[in-house]
Amino acid sequence: MKVLVPVKRVVDYNVKVRVKADNSGVDIANVKMSMNPFCEIAVEEAVRLKEKGAATEIIAVSAGVAQCQETLRNAMAIGADRGILIETDVELQPLAVAKLLKAVVDREQPQLVILGKQAIDDDANQTGQMLAALLGWGQATFASKVEIEGNTAKVTCEVDGGLETISVKLPAIITTDLRLNEPRYATLPNIMKAKKKQLDTLKPADLGVDVTPRLTTLKVEEPPKRKGGVKVADVAALIDKLKNEAKVI
Ligand code: AMP
Repeated sequence: MKVLVPVKRVVDYNVKVRVKADNSGVDIANVKMSMNPFCEIAVEEAVRLKEKGAATEIIAVSAGVAQCQETLRNAMAIGADRGILIETDVELQPLAVAKLLKAVVDREQPQLVILGKQAIDDDANQTGQMLAALLGWGQATFASKVEIEGNTAKVTCEVDGGLETISVKLPAIITTDLRLNEPRYATLPNIMKAKKKQLDTLKPADLGVDVTPRLTTLKVEEPPKRKGGVKVADVAALIDKLKNEAKVI
C-alpha cells in the first residue's frame, strides 16, 4: 500500500507571530519555519504503518516556496521514502492545495492519504476534507488511532464524552489529531540518508492546476491587549465587582 503524506511548511510553533505594520498579514521574514506539527504526526503514522508491514512506500508532498524542500527532507529523515515538491510562490489556499494533491493522487495512485487535521498558521482545517470530496473518497478526520485491516481502515476519533470508531473503505483520507502518536526525532544518520532520497519538483502548471487565490485577506489585527487585573479585599468585594462592574452575575 502506497501512502501519500502532504506536509506543510509553517511558522514554528514556538515563534510569537507579529502582525505586519500595514495589517496585510503576519510577518514571516526571518522567522523560524518548521513542519506543521500535525503533518509530523501524519508522517510518523505512515512510518509506523510501514514498520507494521501495512504500507510499502511513503511519499511526502509539499506545495509552496522552494524552501519547502527542507520540510520534505525532514519528512524523509523521519522515514518517508521520497518527496514531491510542488513549487510556487503564489500564496496557496486550501482549495488550491486540495486540487494539487488530487492531481498527485491521480499520478501516484496511493491507497491512503494521511494529512494533518489543520495547519497551525491559517488554522483552516479544510484541505483533507476538500481532497476527499474532489476524489470522491471516504474520510476519517481527527484520528487518534488508526488500524488497517485488509481493505479498510478502522479509525478512532475523540468526541465529546468519549471515542468514536469508524470503518472506511480504502482508498481513503485520514487526518491526524494530536494524540495519534508522538513523532520520533530524526537521528543524524537518518538526516544524512534523507539527503540522498529522491525529491522531484513540479510546478502547478505541470499538474494542470490554477492556484490563483479565491479569497482576499482584508485585514489582520492583533487581539486586543489584556487589561491588568486587580486584587480584591474579600469575597464580598469580588461579588460586588462581578455584579456591578463586569455585570456577569
Ligand atoms: P489546512 O486545511 O490548511 O488547515 O491544512 C490541513 C493539512 O493539509 C495540513 O496538515 C497538511 O497535511 C495539508 N496541507 C495544507 N497546506 C499544504 C501545503 N501547502 N503543502 C502540503 N500539504 C498541505
